[in-house]
Amino acid sequence: MSVGRSLLGLLVVALIGAACWPAGRDRTAPVPRNVILISIDTLRADHLGTYGYSRDTSPAIDAFARRSVLFERAVTQGESTLPGHGAMLTSRYYGSYHSSPVQGGPPLEVDTLAEILGGQGFATWGFVDGGRMRRVFGFDQGFDHYEDERVKIKRFLQKVEAWLDGHQAERFFLFVHCYDVHTPYTAPDPFGGSFVDPQYRGTFRPNAANFDAVESGRLSFGPDDLRFAIARYDGGIRHTDHHIGGFLERLEKRGLMDSSVVILTSDHGEEFQEHGGFQHKKIFRYPNLHVPLIVHAPGRSPRRVADPVELVDVVPTVLDLLGLPPHPGAMGRSLASIVDGGTDEGLAGRVAFAEGTMPGSGWRTVVSRRHQLLHDVQRDESHLYDLEADPTEQVDIAAQQPALVGQLLTVLRERLAENERRNPGRPAEQRPIDEETRRQLRALGYVDE
Ligand SMILES: [Zn+2]
Repeated sequence: MSVGRSLLGLLVVALIGAACWPAGRDRTAPVPRNVILISIDTLRADHLGTYGYSRDTSPAIDAFARRSVLFERAVTQGESTLPGHGAMLTSRYYGSYHSSPVQGGPPLEVDTLAEILGGQGFATWGFVDGGRMRRVFGFDQGFDHYEDERVKIKRFLQKVEAWLDGHQAERFFLFVHCYDVHTPYTAPDPFGGSFVDPQYRGTFRPNAANFDAVESGRLSFGPDDLRFAIARYDGGIRHTDHHIGGFLERLEKRGLMDSSVVILTSDHGEEFQEHGGFQHKKIFRYPNLHVPLIVHAPGRSPRRVADPVELVDVVPTVLDLLGLPPHPGAMGRSLASIVDGGTDEGLAGRVAFAEGTMPGSGWRTVVSRRHQLLHDVQRDESHLYDLEADPTEQVDIAAQQPALVGQLLTVLRERLAENERRNPGRPAEQRPIDEETRRQLRALGYVDE
C-alpha cells in the first residue's frame, strides 16, 4: 500500500492501521511449495452454497471452503474478464494501466504473477479456456507454458492433470481458468438442467444474442423465462463444481493440497435483471462485482472473514505466504496474516474499489464492510446501499447518510488519484486479434466489440 492511499479524516486511522499487520501472526505456518490459482469465470458469489445460496449448486466448493479461509466480501475490480483477471494476476487496478476495452489485458510493462514467480524460479503454467484469456490479450505474460484452446471442463482438466503427471516434481505456479459457468448456460446433464422447473413451457434459450434481444424489446421475456435462465446458470455452476471437486480430490491424492496454496475465485459475477440487465458487461452493481475468494494453505485453520478484500490482494497474499518479498508495483495488500490465523484487526476500515471499464462507463465504487458507494464520475452523482439489509442494491440511502457518502467518496477519489499517478497515459502495445479469437468472442457475447 502506498502512502498515497492514506486519507484525511476518520478513515485515516483505519486505513493506516490496515498497513500494519496485527500482532500474533503465526509465522511458524509452513511455507507452501506451489501455487494453484483457479478462476471460474462469471461465478457470482451469492450463487454458491457456502455464500448462502438456497440451491445446492456447489457441494464440492462448499466442502473446500470448510477447510479453507473464505472471504465473504471479496470484490473484483471491474465488471468483466479483462479487468477482473488483470486485478487477480497483476495486483493493478484497471485505471492504473493504459488499455483499450477491446484488448485490455495487462501491458508489457506491468508484471504478472507468472513473471514474478518465474523470476523466483517457479515453473509457470497457464491453462485457460480461450475467449478473453487467449494469449492475444496478454495474460500469457510470464508463463513458461500457456494453453488457451477452448474445451469443455472435463477434457480441460484432463489436460491439466496430464501436464501435472509429467511436471509436478517442479516447484510451480499453475493457473486454471474455465468458462463453463458463462453464457450460453448449456452445461450438459445430469447437472446442467438439474434446477430447471419441469413445468417450464417457455422457449427462451439463455445465450448472449437472446439476452440482447430481450433488452432491446425484440424478444418477450417473462418471470418464468428469468427463472429458467437462472436455473440454467445454476446448473452450470453445479456441473463445474462436480468437475472442480474431482480435480481438488485428485490434487489431494497427488499430495498437492498439503504442499500448495490453492485459491479458488472468479473474475466477476453475473446480473439477472436485478438492475434491468443481463450478464455482466453492461451492469456495474454488486451482483456483478461480488466474487468468491477461498484460500487453502497447508497448516492453516479454516475461517470466514467478513471484511472487504479485493482481487488485487491475491498477488501480495501469494507472495507473502511463500515468504517472498512484496512486489513494488502491487496495489493490493497481503491477506497472509489473516490466512495464517491472525486477528481481523488488520482489515478494520478497509474498503474494496472497482471501476466500470466498458466504453462510456463513469461508474466507480467502494465497498466497505457494510455499505457500497456507487459513484458516477461523469455526472458527479453518488448512490449508497446497505449491503447487509439490501444485498442487491434496490434502495438508495445516500440522502440519509451524507457523512458516510462523503467519507467513502474521499476514499474513492484517493484510489482514482493513485490510478492517475500510475497510468503512463499512452496506449499499451497491442497484438492483432485473429479470426478464431474474434469468433470465440462473438460466441461469448462480445459481438459489439
Ligand atoms: Zn469473465
